[in-house]
Amino acid sequence: MTRPETIRLALLPTPFEQLPRLSQALAREDKGPSIWMKRDDCTGFAGGGNKVRKLEYLVAEALKQGADTLVTMGAIQSNHARQTAAAAARNGLACVLLLTDSVANRSESYRTNGNWLLDQIFGAEIRLLPAGGDATAIANEAVSGLTAQGKRPYFIPVGGSNALGSLAYRDALLELAGQAKADGIGIDHIVVPTGSGGTHAGILAGVEDAGLGCRVRGVSVSRSSEQAGAIVSGLVNDIYALEGRQRGQQVALEIDDSQVGPGYGQPTPAMIEAVELVARTEGILLDPVYTGKAMAGLVALVRGGTIGPDETVVFWHTGGAPGLYAYPEVFQG
Ligand SMILES: *Cc1c(COP(=O)(O)O)cnc(C)c1O
Repeated sequence: MTRPETIRLALLPTPFEQLPRLSQALAREDKGPSIWMKRDDCTGFAGGGNKVRKLEYLVAEALKQGADTLVTMGAIQSNHARQTAAAAARNGLACVLLLTDSVANRSESYRTNGNWLLDQIFGAEIRLLPAGGDATAIANEAVSGLTAQGKRPYFIPVGGSNALGSLAYRDALLELAGQAKADGIGIDHIVVPTGSGGTHAGILAGVEDAGLGCRVRGVSVSRSSEQAGAIVSGLVNDIYALEGRQRGQQVALEIDDSQVGPGYGQPTPAMIEAVELVARTEGILLDPVYTGKAMAGLVALVRGGTIGPDETVVFWHTGGAPGLYAYPEVFQG
C-alpha cells in the first residue's frame, strides 16, 4: 500500500542523550547502567510530547478528508488534548475537547492550570464531562451533533492511539535506531510509559522491523499488565494490518503495572522521587502522570538488578511537563 501522508509539526530528530549523573545516582558499588534518554519532550510543538508525532499522521488524514474540526477525548489534564488543540490551530481547524472529570481528589490547580489552561489559550472548545460515562457513546454524540450543525468533524481516539497514530512511533523507533547506531550504542532495554498504548505498540513494531534485539518495557500508568497488554498487542497487529504486511518475528510484550499506585493521575511516592531525582541530577523535567511513573519503574528495575550495571537502557521521555503545574501541592515540601 502507499505510505499514509503526514504533515510537519515536530522538530525531528529529537535529541538522544546520555544521563551520566542519573546513572551515577543509581549506581551500586560505584557502577550503574548506562542510561540514555530519547527526548520526545523536545518534539518542539506546543510544549512538545509524544502526541505531536502521532498528530502528523492523524491531522494529515483529517485534512485529506476535508475536515474542519478535530474532536478528541481525555482527562482534564490530557497532554494529548493540548497538543491536538495546538495542531488544530496550526492547520486552521476548530477543536472540540471532550474532557472527563475522571481523576479524583485533586487540588484546585488541576482544574485551572497546566494543560487545561493551555487548551484555552490554543482556542479549543472544552466540554467537561462527568466521570463514568460511556466514552464511545459520548464521542459519537459529539460527532453527530457537530455534523448536524453542518460541521465536518474528524474524531481522534484517546491518546491518538489507533493504527495510524501508532505508526508514528514505528518511525520514531527507526529514528532512535539510527541515532544509536551512529553513536555506537547497543541498546539492551527501552523503558516507556504505557497509557493508551500507541507509543508502546509503535516502538514494538519498530523493534521487530529493525531486528534490534532489545527488550521493550512498558510501564503502565493506569491498567493491569493483562489489560494494557491486550491493548498494545492489538495495536501492533493493527499497524501491520493497516500496511497490509505480515507480522514477522514477535518481540515479547512486557508491561510492568507496579507503578500505577491508586490509579491514573494519582501521585505515588516513587513518582515524586523519580521526578525530583531526574530534575536534580540532570536538569530534566518529567511529568506526574506518565514519565514520572515510568522513571520510577526504571529506577526499580535498576535497584532490583533486572537492569544490570553493564547494560544500556534508553528511557523514552514522552513529555508532559505542563502537567506539573496541575500538581503543585505534590512537589512543595
Ligand atoms: C499520552 C502520553 C503517554 C502515553 O502514550 P500512549 O501512546 O497513550 O500510551 C506518555 N507520556 C505522556 C507525557 C503522554 O502525554
